[in-house]
Amino acid sequence: MKKQLLFFTFLLIYLTNSTIYSQNDNFVTVFEKSNGSKTATYHQLIAYYKELATYFPAISVFEMGLTDSGFPLHLLVYNNGGKITLSEIKNTKKNILLINNGIHPGESDGIDASILLLRDLAVGKIKSPNNTLLAVIPVYNIGGALNRNSTTRTNQNGPLEYGFRGNARNYDLNRDFIKCDTKNAQAFSKLFHFLNPQVFVDTHVSNGADYQYTLTHLFTQHNKLGGEAGNYLHTVL
Ligand SMILES: [Zn+2]
Repeated sequence: MKKQLLFFTFLLIYLTNSTIYSQNDNFVTVFEKSNGSKTATYHQLIAYYKELATYFPAISVFEMGLTDSGFPLHLLVYNNGGKITLSEIKNTKKNILLINNGIHPGESDGIDASILLLRDLAVGKIKSPNNTLLAVIPVYNIGGALNRNSTTRTNQNGPLEYGFRGNARNYDLNRDFIKCDTKNAQAFSKLFHFLNPQVFVDTHVSNGADYQYTLTHLFTQHNKLGGEAGNYLHTVL
């Protein structure tokens, strides 16, 4: 089947804090523990995912090249058939959904939502997809995630601390997919071509302004996208 890529931008302005997982307190997230006022730090995030992958066979964790921060780019893969290797992923007949988080680490909603999603899938709280591998980049801009502050997004409604927009070398990674000046973008290109996902979700929030609306969503112009994908976007999505 010819793979078609659909690019979405998710604008998640607010996450409900009603999801409390009570079966295993060890896997309650920073977001939940703080009633939605905190987002996991880089090190908390990676430690959580590694523990999740140790505990649940459906979760596999990989290092996919280096970033400008000196830390590797991590990839989490959820497969309801259990642990999976990179060569099995390469040859899979399943569809692949790739979620990229924290290209702008201050836009933390996707980072926290992905932890909840992977955990809830792993514990069986959410019905598991049979024909899809869920691939998640926990945080793409690691240097930015490590450079936390509480003042660069003053009008944003939380969290208390968050990462900075620029990466370890102050590049905006959302402007570097074509140039690939950063190690992050070079690692991402390899990862993306390796996975060749059917659907790619890049999570953002806003630019930190004081938005009037709880949720904003927008699509690309369907006639610029064109072809079958453009028609699908316009008539189905
Ligand atoms: Zn953004």
